[in-house]
Amino acid sequence: MLANPVSPTTTVATPSGVSLKIRLPLRQRRHRYTEPMYSPRSIRHCKACGAASQYLVPEGDNRERAVCSVCHAIDYENPLNVVGTVPAWHDQVLLCRRNIEPRYGLWTLPAGFMELGETTAEGALRETVEEAGAHIELQDLYTLLNVVRVGQLHLYYRARLQNTDFAPGPESIEARLFREEQIPWDELAFRTVRETTAGNAAAEAALQRRLRAVGRSVQTPSNASAARPMVSPSVGCG
Ligand SMILES: [Zn+2]
Repeated sequence: MLANPVSPTTTVATPSGVSLKIRLPLRQRRHRYTEPMYSPRSIRHCKACGAASQYLVPEGDNRERAVCSVCHAIDYENPLNVVGTVPAWHDQVLLCRRNIEPRYGLWTLPAGFMELGETTAEGALRETVEEAGAHIELQDLYTLLNVVRVGQLHLYYRARLQNTDFAPGPESIEARLFREEQIPWDELAFRTVRETTAGNAAAEAALQRRLRAVGRSVQTPSNASAARPMVSPSVGCG
């Protein structure tokens, strides 16, 4: 597995007027991985009858599929959806410390695999409750990140925390609020989390600068109005 490269940084003004170096969203990096991390041709047995499967191009199709040698059922493999939130409390963002592998002990936004029978928004809400025990009001879709190399699509919704009473579930060691300058950039678990968190932090800083420029209070209910959705064509890994 390739080592995670360090993302480039830029300097932004924080709400308190202090200049701060932050990492740029990784979509601005030139480097891109192409080698897949998922396991191609990994299906050995038919889900329907348990007989051996073999990879071949079914009639009328254009790529190899796992086809059962007995009942001829086709096991289609497609990208998995990861859904989560960027929960904001004024100028702070909620992060959870992972109590599970991979990336045990590192910080992440509440997110996880979407389940059958739920919408992306319902999944993001469920994961936020499960991992952080946070009470949120879900807002709009913020990032949509194609993580082609691992065969995943990551979707993060912005969310407004309704209070600061968290009750982390078994998958989290702790859940904590971070101001921009407190975010542990080098201890974030995944590239998509870094990219989403960096975009959110930069948007919050931009909002505060605009508010200061028009002489308004920097106390805003959340970072909601500043952030623009980011859509990234591809990032290397989760
Ligand atoms: Zn079969």
